[in-house]
Amino acid sequence: QNNRERSKHLYEEALEHIVGGVNSPSRSFKAVGGGAPVFMKRAKGAHFWDEDDNRYIDYLAAYGPIITGHAHPHITKAITDAAENGVLYGTPTGLEIRLAKMLKEAIPSMDKVRFVNSGTEAVMTTIRVARAYTKRSKIIKFAGCYHGHSDLVLVAAGSGPSTLGIPDSAGVPASIAHEVITVPFNDLHGLREALDKWKDEVAAVMVEPIVGNFGMVMPKPGFLEGLCKMAHDNGSLVIYDEVITAFRFHYGSAQTYAGLQNHEAIQPDLTALGKIIGGGLPIGAYGGRKHIMEQVAPLGPAYQAGTMAGNPASIASGIACLEILQGEGVYEEMERLSIRLTEGLQASADRHGIPLTINRIRGSFSAHFCQHPVTDYDEAQDTDGEAFAAFFRHMLDQGINLAPSKYEAWFLTTAHTDEDIQETLAAAEESFRQMASENT
Ligand code: PMP
Repeated sequence: QNNRERSKHLYEEALEHIVGGVNSPSRSFKAVGGGAPVFMKRAKGAHFWDEDDNRYIDYLAAYGPIITGHAHPHITKAITDAAENGVLYGTPTGLEIRLAKMLKEAIPSMDKVRFVNSGTEAVMTTIRVARAYTKRSKIIKFAGCYHGHSDLVLVAAGSGPSTLGIPDSAGVPASIAHEVITVPFNDLHGLREALDKWKDEVAAVMVEPIVGNFGMVMPKPGFLEGLCKMAHDNGSLVIYDEVITAFRFHYGSAQTYAGLQNHEAIQPDLTALGKIIGGGLPIGAYGGRKHIMEQVAPLGPAYQAGTMAGNPASIASGIACLEILQGEGVYEEMERLSIRLTEGLQASADRHGIPLTINRIRGSFSAHFCQHPVTDYDEAQDTDGEAFAAFFRHMLDQGINLAPSKYEAWFLTTAHTDEDIQETLAAAEESFRQMASENT
């Protein structure tokens, strides 16, 4: 077990100055039994070093953006060059056009794009645009999908399917929660009910087309087709939150991913992006059909602005990241490693009698401590959080960095190698062995 004394000290100090000691609640260890999170000091490729100089293999990838590994030289150079030329102009730049064109080519449903600073902002604005365009106010979303921390999407399901939402956070007014309807993912029946009930009040149906926030969960065959058809027949827009999924599984997004069929039938009206498209610097973007995007100021009445939006550093970093992802065989290699890793994890868990269900989509996967399939949020909730916490801690002690939550995915990057996988599998074998012995 590694010694993490300095992390403990820094956490104590952080608690005095930063609320909860962390700048995002997902970084706290609250969901895995509490205590000090690891304070990292340096990262390179697939590896982290903490303040005590312990080395970790990283599968967090900063919750997704770091798909090329940390400090990739091509991205580092792009950022350094950008910094030398000034990091923020407050004027348009040619670079912005370049990244916009790259996004449009990869995601053809986006005729027009606008850059913002985070996934939260991107999603929040797609909702405003959809409301402006349809002149309606309600939004339907799916339970367990995360769409950032703006008021409207921090609303959970009510007491049953097809009920108005209840706030998921203090500070979200009930009046706002009443604008949101939450239905179970993969449940067209629930969606039908909600649309029948609120009909011409529904501005948009918003979804993570492949879920990344309660594990990695594929839509069932026909789900997105049905969703798009029902929404459109109702005069509602379809918003895809592709903050996690864009450029994750292939050079494109879920709406063009070969693992999903009938691409024409699953095209959204608006798409929200973030994470990978900034190569690790803060970014978000949204886009969609021309006539819908023309609602946005200065062309239309829907207002959205940003001092930092489209800043040269984030844009240059994003372009460099996408250039790396255009490389031959990049996604195939991440997939090869993730197959090796998931097969090894499953075999190891089976050997020790630990129930484990793995949902893998190319180079990403979620590992759930349960025997049942995970296809919606209820099934994801119904997994063993204590087993996950034990596994998480055993892995951390052996230098494997995972997200401290049973819902989060593991991300392979272009920097992971066969040696990393081998080391991870050895650590997992030891973790499962210890878990099995603790249970008996
Ligand atoms: N949408 C999805 C699908 C996300 O996973 C996230 C972040 N995890 C967001 C939106 C919010 O993005 P950000 O944290 O950049 O605001």
